[in-house]
Amino acid sequence: MAVPGSGLAKGLAVTLRTMTRRSVTAHYPDVQPELPPRSRGVIGLFEENCTVCMLCARECPDWCIYIDSHKETMPAAAPGGRERSRNVLDRFAIDFALCMYCGICIEVCPFDALFWSPEFEYAETDIRDLTHERDKLREWMWTVPEPPALDPAAEEPKEMAAARKTAEKRAEQQAAQAEQGPEAPGPRPSPSSSERPGQAEGEGEA
Ligand code: SF4
Ligand code: SF4
Repeated sequence: MAVPGSGLAKGLAVTLRTMTRRSVTAHYPDVQPELPPRSRGVIGLFEENCTVCMLCARECPDWCIYIDSHKETMPAAAPGGRERSRNVLDRFAIDFALCMYCGICIEVCPFDALFWSPEFEYAETDIRDLTHERDKLREWMWTVPEPPALDPAAEEPKEMAAARKTAEKRAEQQAAQAEQGPEAPGPRPSPSSSERPGQAEGEGEA
């Protein structure tokens, strides 16, 4: 049989215990939450990298990426060469009312044109405003955090190794040129048959 008032005492004990603990409630929006840098807040578009390959739009499970483009013919790089055609982006939009933040579009983009930003304060009162067009997606790029530094023990990426070797080679060439001096004598002209060394002017002429 329960002692009268024991329930009340238990309840008070729980209240006292909780009162002395540190609160985990974030007082948003007065206090901004400290989110991990790779949080999935919104997607930024780096349109300079986008080749309009349509891979992201095709792989998006929600079909919420809208891309329009047209083809442009580029003149041949050299005379006699072939003209080239390239895709020009007209529209790139993401409907964040449909997006489920799966990240597939970012994973499949072969040209690093899409990035996660931790920015999340873009609630709207009109659902149509949740479709972010190209300019807005471009602006989100400014909120994308820098990628983490490479592991110092990691193998150097091939592209960086190639760029470093090219830079070193160029520096060596410049140093060699500087050692020769700015007015290094050029190659001497080879003597022509009519001006062989030791041959006097007019010598040998009929
Ligand atoms: S995060 Fe997922 S749902 Fe959202 S646009 Fe990308 S692929 Fe589509
Ligand atoms: S996958 Fe990347 S490059 Fe291709 S259309 Fe999408 S954003 Fe552009």
